[in-house]
Amino acid sequence: AGNSAVKNAKTGYQYRTVSYPKYTGPKEKATFVTLVRNSDLYSLLPSIKSVEDRFNHKFNYDWVFLNDEEFTDEFKDTVSALVSGTSKFGLIPKEHWSFPSWIDQKKAARVRDQMREDKIIYGDSVSYRHMCRFESGFFYRQSVMDEYDWYWRVEPDVLLHCDIDYDIFKFMRENNKKYGFAISIHEYEATIKSLWKTTRDFMELHPEFVHPNNMMDFISDDNGLSYNMCHFWSNFEIGALDLWRGDAYSAYFDYLDQAGGFFYERWGDAPVHSIAAALFLDRSEIHFFDDVGYFHMPFHSCPLDPEVRLRGKCDCNPASDFTFHGFSCTAKYFTVNDMKKPDGWVNQVD
Ligand code: GDP
Ligand code: MN
Repeated sequence: AGNSAVKNAKTGYQYRTVSYPKYTGPKEKATFVTLVRNSDLYSLLPSIKSVEDRFNHKFNYDWVFLNDEEFTDEFKDTVSALVSGTSKFGLIPKEHWSFPSWIDQKKAARVRDQMREDKIIYGDSVSYRHMCRFESGFFYRQSVMDEYDWYWRVEPDVLLHCDIDYDIFKFMRENNKKYGFAISIHEYEATIKSLWKTTRDFMELHPEFVHPNNMMDFISDDNGLSYNMCHFWSNFEIGALDLWRGDAYSAYFDYLDQAGGFFYERWGDAPVHSIAAALFLDRSEIHFFDDVGYFHMPFHSCPLDPEVRLRGKCDCNPASDFTFHGFSCTAKYFTVNDMKKPDGWVNQVD
């Protein structure tokens, strides 16, 4: 490993870098992607360090950072020192982070007031709504993302619990996977009251986009009549960018955006992505990562199988695993896909 000093031209700030021996095999066109504020820098660093130590120092994939404001030099210098691939920084264009012209701002403000009164989480927040709309419809359209086919989303304050010794992007491609998740969960109904009705209207307009071998039974318990609130937790996603860039999802996002629910309700990017993945993909293209071990407040994904856990040097307690708890939807995912649940899973039910 080489040792070199790096100095930032503007700030004069100096730090030393240690370079690991580089992985020289073929790499995928893949990147990490993190939407983040400058003020989140120090809660993001442990996330990056964890992903680097557990996975990326072996593969050196790039990392794209996106922000609705300019990143500071402190931010850029510090994250670049931790990322083993190339760090890239994208400034989100205003039109991807603002109210579309057709939104009635007064109506949107009334909704926020009501949701504040009803104590709905993030219900009074404008920026959270821009964030959800951005993650739903725009992260994959940023020009810094153009050169990539695959992404792995990372947020501040997350951890990987297990070593990942294989190239996870290569795994996705070779196994025809388009969307991977670690945790699934039920959505708060109050935030997406008309999302399913809007989705059904869309399906009626565009039946050609619904895959014949879709995973409707994961998101609906009555054959599509109603939504059961199940979704993949989008703070962790490993996916193919062409899922979002393709005709089906492009039309779906535009339809949702026109309907206005990102502002008149509080539609999250997680149910939007999940419903789309469940409807537009072949069900075999959706993958549950049972081996990464993942934490985002307040839930852990921790492999129950001791063989998986020890092989991956996981540092989590299997008793804390959320996978088979009642508020999770992953037991349903196993059931509808005829997958064998790991030994001990029954003990994990709430
Ligand atoms: P939660 O996981 O639903 O509680 O939401 P977070 O607060 O973690 O936000 C989700 C992601 O969006 C994280 O990666 C945040 O860093 C990012 N994010 C949230 N709000 C903003 C914002 O106003 N500006 C920017 N640039 N990023 C944001
Ligand atoms: Mn988060």
